[in-house]
Amino acid sequence: MNDRVPGFSTLAVHAGAQPDPTTGARATPIYQTTSFVFNDADHAASLFGLQAFGNIYTRIGNPTNAVLEERVAALEGGTAALAVASGHAAQVVVLQQLLKPGDEFVAARKLYGGSINQFTHAFKSFGWNVAWADTDDIGSFEAALSPRTKAIFIESIANPGGTITDIEAVAAVARRAGVPLIVDNTLATPYLIKPIDHGADIIVHSLTKFLGGHGNSLGGIIVDAGTFDWGKDNKYPMLSEPRSPFNAFLILTGIETLPLRMQKHCDNAKAVAEFLQGHPSVASVSYAGLPGDKYNNLARKYAPRGAGAVFTFNLKGGYQAGVNLVSNLKLFSHLANVGDTRSLVIHPASTTHSQLDDATKIKAGAGPDVVRLSIGIEDREDLIADLEQALTT
Ligand code: PLP
Repeated sequence: MNDRVPGFSTLAVHAGAQPDPTTGARATPIYQTTSFVFNDADHAASLFGLQAFGNIYTRIGNPTNAVLEERVAALEGGTAALAVASGHAAQVVVLQQLLKPGDEFVAARKLYGGSINQFTHAFKSFGWNVAWADTDDIGSFEAALSPRTKAIFIESIANPGGTITDIEAVAAVARRAGVPLIVDNTLATPYLIKPIDHGADIIVHSLTKFLGGHGNSLGGIIVDAGTFDWGKDNKYPMLSEPRSPFNAFLILTGIETLPLRMQKHCDNAKAVAEFLQGHPSVASVSYAGLPGDKYNNLARKYAPRGAGAVFTFNLKGGYQAGVNLVSNLKLFSHLANVGDTRSLVIHPASTTHSQLDDATKIKAGAGPDVVRLSIGIEDREDLIADLEQALTT
């Protein structure tokens, strides 16, 4: 029994945690402290000399954050993780270790709009250049490579379209190029897809979404699969960055119920997608969980438990119909987030993707007639009734 490998739900509750050795507290305490007292001068010296493992200073490591890091690493099947302030911080931190000014990385064009902006504008000021590729055309990843390419970046399930990426095919390109494949697994979570099993070298998350799951705290994490030889050619140095023990505590609490929530999110999303597909005001629904969807075969392969809870649909009435819908919904909250217990809605063209030009909007799956939903864990009949009244108002 002792060498039994715990199941996903058990890891979601227990990985990395144990009763607090001093107080016996069962829930992971929030160690809200900047620094940790050394036992004696020898202990201090051995911590700084990296001969002993332990706590020094919260920017370097904190016991609450360490539980979160160990838990997400266990759920993803990685060797270690680093928690940071947000999903975007994770992207900065990971690429900072891999790229020097003048270097390049290849990124899928179907990405969260904020990431497209971050890669196009913010990273430009660091001298990091992005070359775009299309997940529907794996050859475009190969074509985008150059001698200065240091990484490839994709989302497993893309935001906002909810499309599924053929991770194994992109991983094969990365292997041939000798660069790591970074997968943003935010929308899938390891409950639906484990990119490391399909060849990913690094996983990044916005913990702000389904992992935390309750819309109450920002966080990000980087997981090392342990598959890439970081020492080779001395090309890639080490990682480190600050983070908050309070957010780590809230996110850990969220992760305990991840499998329960994620299944309900997916089951509800499928029911809502089916309802929308039959609605006269709806031109089309892009949900990889629907039979006949372009990405349904990839969803069956990579995400057999469900195709996630974030997807888009197109309204026959175009831009104005999108604006009307978000104004008329009552149970759905109109806000710029995904992955909350509550159902959320946004019209990307007028909000998250508004800074992109029209062609880029459409390529990112955020054209003027597109509405994005993040389906929560409420009763699906109530969600459908709310959409019905809003579509007919
Ligand atoms: N990746 C994806 C897929 C996202 O949806 C988001 C935010 O919406 C991010 C990264 C950025 O995460 P954060 O907002 O935690 O910085």
